Amino acid sequence: MNDCLFCGIIDGKIKADVVYRDEAVVAFKDIVPRAPVHILIIPRKHIANVSEFAASDSTVAGAILLAAAHLAEQFGVAESGYRIVVNSGADAGQTVFHLHFHLLGGRRMSWPPG
Ligand code: AMP
Ligand code: ZN
Repeated sequence: MNDCLFCGIIDGKIKADVVYRDEAVVAFKDIVPRAPVHILIIPRKHIANVSEFAASDSTVAGAILLAAAHLAEQFGVAESGYRIVVNSGADAGQTVFHLHFHLLGGRRMSWPPG
């Protein structure tokens, strides 16, 4: 049994506002948006986080970044700018252990991150 929340979204068992899908990647709106544009981009394959990334998963990273560029264009932040965040592990504040890239945009971001 896989009780992963994001695997449930991929399988359609858990509802989400899906904005993009291809053979490797699914993207949906974050349920608690931290910016006017806040989309999560995830691999269809269950990978817990960056530390669990294997050499055989390397094409997945490219697919996620291509999707991010496409979505930034689609949601109108490609020109204004956006941030891609991957929280990996406890100190980074990762709460869902299915690899996800946050695509954030539509407002000015501060640096360094909190
Ligand atoms: P992280 O803290 O990096 O692990 O990010 C997990 C993200 O998943 C948070 O921004 C949550 O708001 C988001 N999230 C949790 N549950 C859902 C859900 N059912 N649908 C969409 N986003 C979710
Ligand atoms: Zn999963």
